[in-house]
Amino acid sequence: METKKFTIFGDPVEHSISPKMHGFAIEGLGLDATYTKTHLEGACRLKTLFLESFDAANVTVPHKEAAFGQADEIRGIAKEIGAVNTLINENGHMIGYNTDAEGFYRSLQDFPDIKSALILGAGGTAKAISYILKEKGIEVSVLNRSSSRLEAFKNFKTATWENVEEGYHDIIINTTSAGLEEETLPAPQSIMIRLFEHTKYAIDVIYNKETPFLKMAKSYNLPSKDGADMLLYQGILAFNLFYHDRFSFEEVEPFMRKAF
Ligand code: NDP
Repeated sequence: METKKFTIFGDPVEHSISPKMHGFAIEGLGLDATYTKTHLEGACRLKTLFLESFDAANVTVPHKEAAFGQADEIRGIAKEIGAVNTLINENGHMIGYNTDAEGFYRSLQDFPDIKSALILGAGGTAKAISYILKEKGIEVSVLNRSSSRLEAFKNFKTATWENVEEGYHDIIINTTSAGLEEETLPAPQSIMIRLFEHTKYAIDVIYNKETPFLKMAKSYNLPSKDGADMLLYQGILAFNLFYHDRFSFEEVEPFMRKAF
Protein backbone atom coordinates (compact mmCIF):
# COMPACT_ATOMS: atom_id res chain seq x y z
CA MET A 1 0.00 0.00 0.00
CA GLU A 2 1.24 3.52 -0.81
CA THR A 3 2.24 5.99 1.89
CA LYS A 4 -0.70 8.37 2.53
CA LYS A 5 0.14 12.06 2.16
CA PHE A 6 -1.53 14.66 4.35
CA THR A 7 -0.81 18.36 4.88
CA ILE A 8 -2.08 21.58 6.41
CA PHE A 9 -2.48 24.65 4.18
CA GLY A 10 -2.17 28.06 5.83
CA ASP A 11 -0.45 31.45 5.90
CA PRO A 12 1.23 31.54 8.35
CA VAL A 13 1.46 27.83 9.06
CA GLU A 14 4.79 27.49 10.92
CA HIS A 15 3.09 27.77 14.33
CA SER A 16 0.52 25.03 13.64
CA ILE A 17 0.57 22.04 15.96
CA SER A 18 -1.61 19.94 13.62
CA PRO A 19 1.45 18.12 12.15
CA LYS A 20 2.46 17.13 15.68
CA MET A 21 -1.07 15.99 16.60
CA HIS A 22 -1.54 13.94 13.44
CA GLY A 23 2.06 12.71 13.59
CA PHE A 24 1.48 11.20 17.04
CA ALA A 25 -1.72 9.52 15.84
CA ILE A 26 -0.04 8.12 12.71
CA GLU A 27 2.87 6.77 14.74
CA GLY A 28 0.75 5.51 17.63
CA LEU A 29 -1.64 3.63 15.35
CA GLY A 30 1.24 2.21 13.26
CA LEU A 31 0.13 3.84 9.99
CA ASP A 32 2.13 4.54 6.85
CA ALA A 33 1.56 8.27 6.29
CA THR A 34 3.20 11.71 6.31
CA TYR A 35 1.67 15.00 7.50
CA THR A 36 3.48 18.17 6.34
CA LYS A 37 2.99 21.95 6.52
CA THR A 38 2.24 23.78 3.27
CA HIS A 39 2.74 27.53 3.42
CA LEU A 40 0.40 29.00 0.81
CA GLU A 41 0.36 32.72 0.06
CA GLY A 42 -2.91 33.27 -1.76
CA ALA A 43 -5.33 30.43 -2.38
CA CYS A 44 -5.51 30.30 -6.18
CA ARG A 45 -3.36 27.15 -6.40
CA LEU A 46 -4.91 25.40 -3.41
CA LYS A 47 -7.11 22.94 -5.30
CA THR A 48 -4.48 22.04 -7.93
CA LEU A 49 -1.78 21.55 -5.30
CA PHE A 50 -4.10 19.50 -3.13
CA LEU A 51 -5.35 17.16 -5.84
CA GLU A 52 -1.85 16.70 -7.35
CA SER A 53 -0.07 15.86 -4.13
CA PHE A 54 -2.30 14.88 -1.21
CA ASP A 55 -4.85 12.29 -0.05
CA ALA A 56 -6.33 14.63 2.56
CA ALA A 57 -5.57 17.95 4.24
CA ASN A 58 -6.46 20.50 6.86
CA VAL A 59 -6.94 24.15 6.04
CA THR A 60 -6.27 27.03 8.41
CA VAL A 61 -6.32 30.83 8.36
CA PRO A 62 -6.81 32.53 5.90
CA HIS A 63 -7.82 29.84 3.39
CA LYS A 64 -10.95 28.26 4.92
CA GLU A 65 -13.40 30.29 2.80
CA ALA A 66 -11.35 29.79 -0.38
CA ALA A 67 -11.26 26.04 0.23
CA PHE A 68 -15.05 26.14 0.59
CA GLY A 69 -15.34 27.98 -2.73
CA GLN A 70 -13.00 25.65 -4.62
CA ALA A 71 -14.32 22.29 -3.37
CA ASP A 72 -16.14 20.03 -5.84
CA GLU A 73 -18.54 19.02 -3.08
CA ILE A 74 -19.26 20.25 0.43
CA ARG A 75 -20.59 17.84 3.04
CA GLY A 76 -22.28 18.41 6.40
CA ILE A 77 -22.45 21.60 8.42
CA ALA A 78 -19.74 23.29 6.27
CA LYS A 79 -22.57 24.10 3.83
CA GLU A 80 -24.17 26.45 6.37
CA ILE A 81 -20.89 27.83 7.73
CA GLY A 82 -19.31 28.63 4.36
CA ALA A 83 -15.85 27.55 5.53
CA VAL A 84 -13.91 24.30 5.24
CA ASN A 85 -11.06 23.05 7.47
CA THR A 86 -10.77 19.48 6.15
CA LEU A 87 -10.30 18.27 2.57
CA ILE A 88 -10.52 14.72 1.25
CA ASN A 89 -9.26 13.68 -2.19
CA GLU A 90 -11.99 11.32 -3.36
CA ASN A 91 -10.92 9.92 -6.74
CA GLY A 92 -9.62 13.30 -7.93
CA HIS A 93 -12.52 15.26 -6.44
CA MET A 94 -11.93 17.76 -3.64
CA ILE A 95 -14.50 17.17 -0.88
CA GLY A 96 -14.79 19.78 1.89
CA TYR A 97 -15.87 19.37 5.52
CA ASN A 98 -15.87 21.54 8.64
CA THR A 99 -14.80 19.81 11.86
CA ASP A 100 -14.18 23.04 13.86
CA ALA A 101 -17.88 23.27 14.70
CA GLU A 102 -18.31 19.70 15.97
CA GLY A 103 -14.89 19.94 17.67
CA PHE A 104 -16.09 22.96 19.62
CA TYR A 105 -19.38 21.28 20.52
CA ARG A 106 -17.54 18.26 21.93
CA SER A 107 -15.39 20.59 24.04
CA LEU A 108 -18.60 21.78 25.75
CA GLN A 109 -19.16 18.34 27.28
CA ASP A 110 -17.49 19.45 30.55
CA PHE A 111 -20.19 22.10 31.02
CA PRO A 112 -23.62 20.53 31.60
CA ASP A 113 -27.08 21.99 30.91
CA ILE A 114 -26.27 24.71 28.42
CA LYS A 115 -29.41 26.22 26.94
CA SER A 116 -28.19 29.69 26.01
CA ALA A 117 -24.85 31.07 24.81
CA LEU A 118 -23.34 34.47 24.10
CA ILE A 119 -20.65 34.51 21.43
CA LEU A 120 -18.17 37.40 21.50
CA GLY A 121 -16.89 38.10 17.98
CA ALA A 122 -18.40 37.61 14.54
CA GLY A 123 -15.59 36.13 12.43
CA GLY A 124 -15.16 32.67 10.91
CA THR A 125 -14.92 30.83 14.23
CA ALA A 126 -18.02 32.59 15.57
CA LYS A 127 -19.90 31.45 12.47
CA ALA A 128 -18.89 27.80 12.92
CA ILE A 129 -19.77 27.83 16.61
CA SER A 130 -23.07 29.69 16.23
CA TYR A 131 -24.35 27.25 13.59
CA ILE A 132 -23.53 24.11 15.55
CA LEU A 133 -25.00 25.50 18.80
CA LYS A 134 -28.20 26.51 17.00
CA GLU A 135 -28.38 23.07 15.37
CA LYS A 136 -28.12 21.51 18.86
CA GLY A 137 -31.04 23.61 20.13
CA ILE A 138 -29.02 26.19 22.10
CA GLU A 139 -30.20 29.80 21.98
CA VAL A 140 -27.35 31.90 20.57
CA SER A 141 -26.66 35.64 20.76
CA VAL A 142 -23.69 37.33 19.11
CA LEU A 143 -21.90 40.45 20.38
CA ASN A 144 -19.29 42.15 18.20
CA ARG A 145 -17.18 45.30 18.34
CA SER A 146 -18.46 46.58 14.99
CA SER A 147 -21.65 45.99 13.03
CA SER A 148 -20.48 45.00 9.53
CA ARG A 149 -19.65 41.34 10.27
CA LEU A 150 -22.96 40.91 12.13
CA GLU A 151 -24.75 40.96 8.77
CA ALA A 152 -23.71 37.32 8.36
CA PHE A 153 -25.73 36.47 11.51
CA LYS A 154 -29.23 37.34 10.30
CA ASN A 155 -30.79 34.31 12.03
CA PHE A 156 -29.33 35.22 15.43
CA LYS A 157 -29.90 37.86 18.07
CA THR A 158 -27.02 40.33 17.60
CA ALA A 159 -25.61 43.45 19.26
CA THR A 160 -22.60 45.75 19.18
CA TRP A 161 -20.92 47.33 22.21
CA GLU A 162 -23.26 50.34 21.76
CA ASN A 163 -26.54 48.43 22.11
CA VAL A 164 -25.69 45.40 24.28
CA GLU A 165 -28.68 44.39 26.42
CA GLU A 166 -28.83 43.10 29.98
CA GLY A 167 -29.48 39.37 30.05
CA TYR A 168 -28.39 35.98 31.33
CA HIS A 169 -26.50 33.38 29.23
CA ASP A 170 -25.40 29.94 30.47
CA ILE A 171 -22.03 30.38 28.76
CA ILE A 172 -19.92 33.17 27.28
CA ILE A 173 -17.60 32.19 24.43
CA ASN A 174 -14.73 34.42 23.32
CA THR A 175 -14.08 33.93 19.61
CA THR A 176 -12.39 37.31 19.08
CA SER A 177 -8.63 37.48 18.72
CA ALA A 178 -8.46 39.92 21.67
CA GLY A 179 -5.96 38.44 24.11
CA LEU A 180 -4.09 36.47 21.45
CA GLU A 181 -1.15 38.84 21.20
CA GLU A 182 -2.06 41.78 23.41
CA GLU A 183 -3.42 41.72 26.94
CA THR A 184 -6.87 43.02 25.98
CA LEU A 185 -10.41 41.96 26.85
CA PRO A 186 -12.86 41.18 24.01
CA ALA A 187 -15.08 44.13 25.05
CA PRO A 188 -14.72 47.14 27.39
CA GLN A 189 -14.40 46.16 31.04
CA SER A 190 -17.75 47.73 32.00
CA ILE A 191 -19.49 45.39 29.52
CA MET A 192 -17.43 42.37 30.55
CA ILE A 193 -18.38 42.90 34.22
CA ARG A 194 -22.09 42.83 33.31
CA LEU A 195 -21.61 39.72 31.20
CA PHE A 196 -19.61 37.78 33.79
CA GLU A 197 -22.14 38.65 36.49
CA HIS A 198 -24.84 36.94 34.42
CA THR A 199 -23.36 33.64 33.31
CA LYS A 200 -22.18 30.32 34.76
CA TYR A 201 -19.40 29.19 32.34
CA ALA A 202 -16.77 30.73 30.05
CA ILE A 203 -14.70 29.41 27.13
CA ASP A 204 -11.98 31.13 25.13
CA VAL A 205 -11.15 29.55 21.77
CA ILE A 206 -7.59 30.90 22.00
CA TYR A 207 -5.46 27.99 23.21
CA ASN A 208 -2.45 27.40 25.45
CA LYS A 209 -2.71 30.84 26.97
CA GLU A 210 -4.46 32.36 29.95
CA THR A 211 -6.02 35.37 28.24
CA PRO A 212 -7.39 38.43 30.10
CA PHE A 213 -10.86 36.94 29.33
CA LEU A 214 -9.98 33.68 31.12
CA LYS A 215 -8.31 35.53 34.00
CA MET A 216 -11.47 37.56 34.48
CA ALA A 217 -13.65 34.42 34.34
CA LYS A 218 -11.46 32.90 37.08
CA SER A 219 -11.86 36.00 39.24
CA TYR A 220 -15.63 35.33 39.10
CA ASN A 221 -14.98 31.65 40.05
CA LEU A 222 -16.58 30.47 36.82
CA PRO A 223 -15.72 27.03 35.42
CA SER A 224 -13.74 27.91 32.28
CA LYS A 225 -11.32 26.54 29.69
CA ASP A 226 -9.23 27.58 26.70
CA GLY A 227 -9.51 26.34 23.09
CA ALA A 228 -7.08 23.41 23.35
CA ASP A 229 -9.86 20.79 23.50
CA MET A 230 -11.59 22.38 20.48
CA LEU A 231 -8.33 22.15 18.54
CA LEU A 232 -7.74 18.57 19.66
CA TYR A 233 -11.27 17.43 18.85
CA GLN A 234 -11.41 19.06 15.41
CA GLY A 235 -8.14 17.23 14.69
CA ILE A 236 -9.49 13.84 15.76
CA LEU A 237 -12.64 14.35 13.69
CA ALA A 238 -10.50 15.33 10.67
CA PHE A 239 -8.25 12.29 11.18
CA ASN A 240 -11.33 10.06 11.21
CA LEU A 241 -12.39 11.58 7.89
CA PHE A 242 -8.86 10.95 6.51
CA TYR A 243 -9.21 7.27 7.45
CA HIS A 244 -12.93 6.90 6.65
CA ASP A 245 -13.82 6.13 10.30
CA ARG A 246 -11.43 3.17 10.55
CA PHE A 247 -10.61 4.23 14.14
CA SER A 248 -12.90 5.37 16.92
CA PHE A 249 -12.64 8.85 18.44
CA GLU A 250 -11.48 7.26 21.72
CA GLU A 251 -8.70 5.29 19.99
CA VAL A 252 -7.19 8.40 18.38
CA GLU A 253 -7.57 10.81 21.32
CA PRO A 254 -4.71 9.65 23.62
CA PHE A 255 -2.16 9.84 20.79
CA MET A 256 -3.20 13.30 19.62
CA ARG A 257 -3.41 14.62 23.17
CA LYS A 258 0.34 14.01 23.51
CA ALA A 259 0.90 17.04 21.23
CA PHE A 260 -0.34 19.42 23.96
P1 NDP B 1 -11.62 36.46 12.35
O1 NDP B 1 -10.53 37.37 11.91
O2 NDP B 1 -12.50 35.83 11.34
O3 NDP B 1 -12.58 37.29 13.39
C1 NDP B 1 -12.04 38.02 14.45
C2 NDP B 1 -13.17 38.63 15.30
O4 NDP B 1 -12.55 39.17 16.45
C3 NDP B 1 -13.97 39.73 14.64
O5 NDP B 1 -15.31 39.65 15.03
C4 NDP B 1 -13.33 41.03 15.22
O6 NDP B 1 -14.22 42.11 15.35
C5 NDP B 1 -12.95 40.55 16.60
N1 NDP B 1 -11.81 41.25 17.18
C6 NDP B 1 -10.53 41.26 16.75
N2 NDP B 1 -9.74 41.97 17.59
C7 NDP B 1 -10.56 42.43 18.56
C8 NDP B 1 -10.35 43.24 19.73
N3 NDP B 1 -9.14 43.71 20.05
N4 NDP B 1 -11.41 43.51 20.52
C9 NDP B 1 -12.63 43.02 20.22
N5 NDP B 1 -12.91 42.26 19.12
C10 NDP B 1 -11.88 41.98 18.31
O7 NDP B 1 -10.92 35.39 13.28
P2 NDP B 1 -11.25 33.82 13.46
O8 NDP B 1 -12.70 33.66 13.76
O9 NDP B 1 -10.67 33.07 12.33
O10 NDP B 1 -10.35 33.47 14.74
C11 NDP B 1 -10.66 34.04 15.99
C12 NDP B 1 -9.85 33.38 17.10
O11 NDP B 1 -10.15 32.01 17.20
C13 NDP B 1 -8.34 33.48 16.94
O12 NDP B 1 -7.80 33.91 18.16
C14 NDP B 1 -7.91 32.05 16.65
O13 NDP B 1 -6.63 31.79 17.19
C15 NDP B 1 -8.97 31.24 17.37
N6 NDP B 1 -9.23 29.90 16.80
C16 NDP B 1 -9.14 28.79 17.61
C17 NDP B 1 -9.40 27.52 17.12
C18 NDP B 1 -9.27 26.32 18.00
O14 NDP B 1 -9.34 25.19 17.48
N7 NDP B 1 -9.16 26.47 19.29
C19 NDP B 1 -9.81 27.30 15.71
C20 NDP B 1 -9.90 28.53 14.94
C21 NDP B 1 -9.62 29.77 15.49
P3 NDP B 1 -14.50 43.21 14.16
O15 NDP B 1 -15.53 42.60 13.26
O16 NDP B 1 -15.00 44.39 14.88
O17 NDP B 1 -13.18 43.42 13.47
